[in-house]
Amino acid sequence: MELQRQHLIDPAICIRCNTCEEACPIDAITHNDLNYVVDFDKCESCMHCISPCPTGAIDSWRAVAKPWSVEEQLTWDDLPDDQEGDAVEEEDVDREIVAMFDVAEGKDRAKIIPPKTAPKPKLHLYSRNKPAKAVVAGNYRITDKDSDTDIRHIVLDFGATSFPVLEGQSIGILPPGEDEKGKPHHIRLYSIASPRDGERPNRNNLALTIKRVVDGDIKGVGSNYMCDLKKGDEVLVTGPFGQTFLMPDHPEANIIMVATGTGAAPMRAMTMRRQRVHPDAPGKLMLFLGARTPGDQPYFGPLKKLPKEFIDVNLSFSRMADQPKEYVQDRMHKEGEKLAELLKSNNTYVYICGLKGMEKGVEESFAGVCAARGLDWPSLEAEMKESGRYHVETY
Ligand SMILES: Cc1cc2nc3c(=O)[nH]c(=O)nc-3n(C[C@H](O)[C@H](O)[C@H](O)COP(=O)(O)OP(=O)(O)OC[C@H]3O[C@@H](n4cnc5c(N)ncnc54)[C@H](O)[C@@H]3O)c2cc1C
Ligand code: SF4
Ligand code: SF4
Repeated sequence: MELQRQHLIDPAICIRCNTCEEACPIDAITHNDLNYVVDFDKCESCMHCISPCPTGAIDSWRAVAKPWSVEEQLTWDDLPDDQEGDAVEEEDVDREIVAMFDVAEGKDRAKIIPPKTAPKPKLHLYSRNKPAKAVVAGNYRITDKDSDTDIRHIVLDFGATSFPVLEGQSIGILPPGEDEKGKPHHIRLYSIASPRDGERPNRNNLALTIKRVVDGDIKGVGSNYMCDLKKGDEVLVTGPFGQTFLMPDHPEANIIMVATGTGAAPMRAMTMRRQRVHPDAPGKLMLFLGARTPGDQPYFGPLKKLPKEFIDVNLSFSRMADQPKEYVQDRMHKEGEKLAELLKSNNTYVYICGLKGMEKGVEESFAGVCAARGLDWPSLEAEMKESGRYHVETY
């Protein structure tokens, strides 16, 4: 029996973020209120959608005798079992699947490039059907009590459950209850804000940095659930997710980090890792963080205490009564000389994290900084991406 390779999206992992639909150059991805799906008749397996997907839900492939239609996929809660038919000899299926996936493998992986010295991350150990249980060990507000931005530092303890993570990865949270269609809420992703060995060294725990989302009368499901948790509450967790936004493990690496709001979370994890393992590393750390005011800036107090010789911290504020607006990209221009020096080194890695839309301004700053100093940003950026040295995670 002839088998065909079908590109699917795993509805149990997908967070319905629309990133893949935006990335597909030929509109092969579509969605309804329930699911994101790939149209078998359109998909050309170009792999443009694979690396931008934050969860890996898009990287689902099956060898099928009869491709599933868009209409069928739009109703799924989970990926169905493999198709089986009496006429299909198991050995033949195996052989054909291996052949198909060998061809795909090279294409997939070529676009997913973590730093060369990052360890291999564990992925998808826990799913919606088989989540890990964690207990809240602490939930602290880290923005000013007068600020209308409520950002929380939440520590989850995994007890005896193994949940190995790396800096730059995310976890999924399963909010309890159902949506308006009576379906379980889909997972929400949160970046890990602590290093791989725990919020406190060698504790089986991790930290998250979560902003309470409120839009008029509407309260975001996942963020409000998490921000309201009390010490001792149990949380269902999936993941870990993310295989490219990982930090280099060698101490010579220079790391430029640019973040807004809760984008500070992975930068905290990377900074703490460096401080714990290589406090005297020859590689430089340069951090650009943006918020409206110091009161809105997560971890403002601890950031100010970090030694200057360990990390160059640059904070920008856009709503200060007594000074002109300054965004991260403005600050990057001001520090252009230092940035350009770092960008000249092929040991420099860039990480950008925060709200969707910030990437463009940050890229323009890099371009401006380079142009003013005779560096060719377009070719440098392309080279950095190809060698796993330029990473963006926006949401
Ligand atoms: C890789 C990744 C990492 C992330 N890391 C973090 C992190 O570290 N910290 C963090 O805080 N967030 C992070 N996020 C974002 C997070 O996953 C959630 O998207 C965020 O918390 C909002 O989820 P929510 O359930 O609270 O809001 P939702 O319930 O999903 O609502 C989202 C928006 O839709 C609006 N909305 C909801 N329901 C309706 C309705 N019925 N009608 C009209 N509008 C509606 C809400 O007002 C809100 O603006 C990350 C996302 C990704 C993809
Ligand atoms: S999680 Fe992945 S598959 Fe789902 S909508 Fe986002 S990019 Fe697409
Ligand atoms: S593999 Fe290419 S054609 Fe297929 S859905 Fe992804 S981006 Fe679109």
